[in-house]
Amino acid sequence: MGELLEELRGLQAVALKLVGIEQNLASKQRRVTGRQRQVKQADEKLDQNKRATQQYQIRVDQLSLEVAAREESQAKHRQALNTAKTNKEYASILAAMNTEKADTAKIEAAVLELMKEVDNFKAAGAKIEAEKATLLEEVGKATKTFEDARAKCKPEYDELQSLRQEFVDRLEPASLAMFDRASSRHEGEALAEVVKPRAKGSEYNCGGCNMTVTLEVVNSLQTRDKIQQCGSCGRILYIQSVATAK
Ligand SMILES: [Zn+2]
Repeated sequence: MGELLEELRGLQAVALKLVGIEQNLASKQRRVTGRQRQVKQADEKLDQNKRATQQYQIRVDQLSLEVAAREESQAKHRQALNTAKTNKEYASILAAMNTEKADTAKIEAAVLELMKEVDNFKAAGAKIEAEKATLLEEVGKATKTFEDARAKCKPEYDELQSLRQEFVDRLEPASLAMFDRASSRHEGEALAEVVKPRAKGSEYNCGGCNMTVTLEVVNSLQTRDKIQQCGSCGRILYIQSVATAK
């Protein structure tokens, strides 16, 4: 293998390590943002719960006022009952009182139902609050895991970056551009080894995408230190050991 391809392989090794560190950190960061999103969802649920509780409470208050007003009216009727002058008057006041009493009982029953609902909402709210507290704890833990990992790999990461810079400084811009294109297409895996799918066969494949590599390309790779890209995936091809041509 020529010097250029050796250099590119060196660069790829460094680049892959960098990608590995970046992916590892990114997955830890995703864990943080995932938990944060869940906290936000819990906040939204709490908000809905709070609004529903308030609405039910308002209705409870309204109906309680109505019950109080009816009780006041009952008291007036009772007084009127005591001062009724005729049997007919007495009977009509009594009838009105009975109707009112039945209506009031219905409202009171409704108030009780609504109060039960308010209690249910409050219990649900408390449950969401507890879930949120757990999630916040997990956000804290995940954040710490992420930050610890970042701090731990920083020296290695910085060293790899300066190593990559050394390769970048040594390489021709055109070669580098080809490497970068292939690298960004294949998550840092810019190079692929040419492999023989069958030991005795004369066929060669790209180790990256398994598509056939022509003999012409193989010959060129064996004799010249020049970039050859896989016609299918665009990875820069190299041959590890010179195949014994017979
Ligand atoms: Zn390929």
